[in-house]
Amino acid sequence: MRKFLIAGNWKMNLLRDSSVALVHGLLDELKGDPNVEVAVCPPSVYLHDVGAALRGSQIALGAQNMYPAEEGAFTGEVSGKMLVDLGCKYVILGHSERRTLMGETDAQVNAKIYAALKCELLPIVCIGETLEQREAGNTSKVVRDQLRGSLAGLTADQMSKVVLAYEPVWAIGTGKTASPAQAEEVHADIRLLLVELFGEATASKTVIQYGGSVKADNAMELLGQPNIDGALVGGASLKAELFLPICLAAQKVKK
Ligand code: PEP
Repeated sequence: MRKFLIAGNWKMNLLRDSSVALVHGLLDELKGDPNVEVAVCPPSVYLHDVGAALRGSQIALGAQNMYPAEEGAFTGEVSGKMLVDLGCKYVILGHSERRTLMGETDAQVNAKIYAALKCELLPIVCIGETLEQREAGNTSKVVRDQLRGSLAGLTADQMSKVVLAYEPVWAIGTGKTASPAQAEEVHADIRLLLVELFGEATASKTVIQYGGSVKADNAMELLGQPNIDGALVGGASLKAELFLPICLAAQKVKK
């Protein structure tokens, strides 16, 4: 059985004190569950403080991006090794904001996945269509192309360490959520592609999160879908009282 992964993507929000206070708010209330892993992904400058507050707890630390090279003259960038050094287990790669605002390509995401795996960081790879692409009937093609490009050349063993996050761009930060049926349709399609690319055993083990305006009131129904294995949460991860009910919903869902 796949374990749920509920990850909070804090993006460029919060300052040091509010980041640490949020972690304490989560740790005060969250009970461990063997079927649900929870992670938080603060801005890189607060990974150290958030990591210190999380130490010894059941909540994992993740970063929001990394540079593919191991070290060198890359001003302003952060390597995977540095993230591991700060205690990160996960790194979000290819988020739609990076693809749109920073022009990140599937080839760059692919290089980052290899670099992350090399230093034993687990990548959370984001894919998803825009509203225009959905309305043109191209959702499956767009998502499949992004996956083929981002996951190019990976072995089944490497893929077994990768998490996917299906995030329809039109649902991110907009308050619009894909309906459980819309999301499940894409998740099932992604799993079919994974069978083609990596075989049944790997496909059935791959965690595919949904992301896009996940909140307490829609989490349970989304997470109850057969191919939805967790959530990547933006806005609702910034307050303990919004994020905790999503984690609790995952703990309650029985599949
Ligand atoms: C995200 O940025 O990954 C995200 C899903 O954001 P939100 O939950 O705010 O839509």
